[in-house]
Amino acid sequence: MMFGLMQDRPLLISSLLDHAEQYHSATEIVSRTCEGPLVRETWSSLAVRARKIAQALIRLGVKPGDRVATLAWNTHRHLELYFAVSGMGAVLHTVNPRLYPEQIGYIVNHSEAKVLCFDIPQAGLVADLLPELGHVQTLIALTDAAHLPDLPGCLAYETLLGAEDGAYDWPVFDERTASSLCYTSGTTGNPKGVLYSHRSTVLHSLIACQSDGLQLSSRDSTLLVVPMFHVNAWGVPYASALCGAKLVLPGPKLDGASLWDLATTEGCTFSLGVPTVWLGFLAHMDQTPGLDATALKLRRIVVGGSAAPRAIIERMRDMGIFVIHAWGMSETSPLGTIGNLLPKHDALPVSEQVDVQVKQGRAIWGVSLRLVDDDGAVLPQDGSVSGNLQVRGPWVTSGYYRAEGGPAVDAEGWFTTGDVARIDSDGYVQITDRAKDVIKSGGEWISSIDLENAAVAFPGVAEAAVIGLPHPKWQERPLLVLVRKPGADPDPADVLEFLSHRVAKWWLPDAVEFVDELPHTATGKIQKTKLRDQFRDYVLPDHH
Ligand code: AMP
Repeated sequence: MMFGLMQDRPLLISSLLDHAEQYHSATEIVSRTCEGPLVRETWSSLAVRARKIAQALIRLGVKPGDRVATLAWNTHRHLELYFAVSGMGAVLHTVNPRLYPEQIGYIVNHSEAKVLCFDIPQAGLVADLLPELGHVQTLIALTDAAHLPDLPGCLAYETLLGAEDGAYDWPVFDERTASSLCYTSGTTGNPKGVLYSHRSTVLHSLIACQSDGLQLSSRDSTLLVVPMFHVNAWGVPYASALCGAKLVLPGPKLDGASLWDLATTEGCTFSLGVPTVWLGFLAHMDQTPGLDATALKLRRIVVGGSAAPRAIIERMRDMGIFVIHAWGMSETSPLGTIGNLLPKHDALPVSEQVDVQVKQGRAIWGVSLRLVDDDGAVLPQDGSVSGNLQVRGPWVTSGYYRAEGGPAVDAEGWFTTGDVARIDSDGYVQITDRAKDVIKSGGEWISSIDLENAAVAFPGVAEAAVIGLPHPKWQERPLLVLVRKPGADPDPADVLEFLSHRVAKWWLPDAVEFVDELPHTATGKIQKTKLRDQFRDYVLPDHH
């Protein structure tokens, strides 16, 4: 073997910001703040501020490898911390403020974060948690002196930043150094930390900017709806620096009206978020008389986190917006599969293109995928069978932080995702369920995702969830739980009739129930465990 003679420059997150500062200096970063007003920065001013906050953190005693926790929405300050904390060699530990306080306390203690940065709406939560947080030495409120909450010893971000001169060079270190830490809220056991590296983050950013990736480029104005505490906002903050895209950050306001305002006033061309957010966005459009749809310049949106319902894909297409359906998880940074069309799909009628789009996309370079059965035997990728999805690659986890939960991968490095999927001969993955949500009826599997997607296409249905309930003969049978659209009252028989044209007869739910709202997790997924609890004593009608 002979080594090549190319330069072994480490792949560091600071290089992304340096590039944006130099070559996209005037490109804007627009942020709604928790204080209210919009703030306009540029990649150049943001880079200076990131260096200043790095200087301030060093002055406060933060050392390489230390964890700096954030409890924050998508704002310019949070973005500055993304680059400052990782850039100086410390670890940015993003924490989801929507979790239960006990979970937040557990996570921050587990990471042993020394510094906790938080948005002012979280001040009450931080005050309550503080006595439990054994390792936090410094509290920084992401605001200025005028809005500083009344918490003992709490520092104001803008005051810290204002005291520095920005004369700081990002250190150079091994690209495998940890850069950020994000906990998955597992449904069983304690949350587990996924620890990303500079190398994994930079490689992942390159994928986001590929034409067959998220197609992100300097031509985009990105409305970053997916929270920066949810798997590094799907890597888009870093990727935006890599390609010099404009970023529009919605702060704490993720309702349809607020997103509509930002998207239209900031000329957003690209956005990304979970299906629930898009349902809210479309509902706002439907409920606002006289709204001018031509004001919307969006051309691509990434939908992930849960399956993108066909109804969303079609509605968006009607408005000239292509839904890039993507699949991933905290453990995969998160990009695993990305749903672009192949040249051979161009000539297909729209409905058949949508058939491709409802799948979760194809493997991208870097992510190897395979399906195995319950005994670990490898299954074919020809669309004929579904099995347990396993992944491997340079931005897939090799184990959880502090080895929580034991080994995360097998001897060959395969990580079992917990998702059940099919992979067709073109490589498109179709997630049929979480392994624990799949409905086992008479030895066959019913996909709750397919049923839910079909049900939300029924007029008058706002949201749908399907759970399996015990059945004496079939082991389990599906119950369909629906949320009505305002003013609508869909007839269950009509819904079932509608479904009968879209799914196999034996998949049809045994009953339909209505609720005012469905329980959601802190990242917007329907919380099936809670729903199953809610319907624990429900008895399905016996018509089999
Ligand atoms: P998280 O780590 O919280 O992002 O959750 C990851 C899980 O979300 C995956 O294992 C899937 O079960 C689910 N998920 C993510 N994207 C999709 C998608 N496009 N369709 C269906 N499920 C998805």
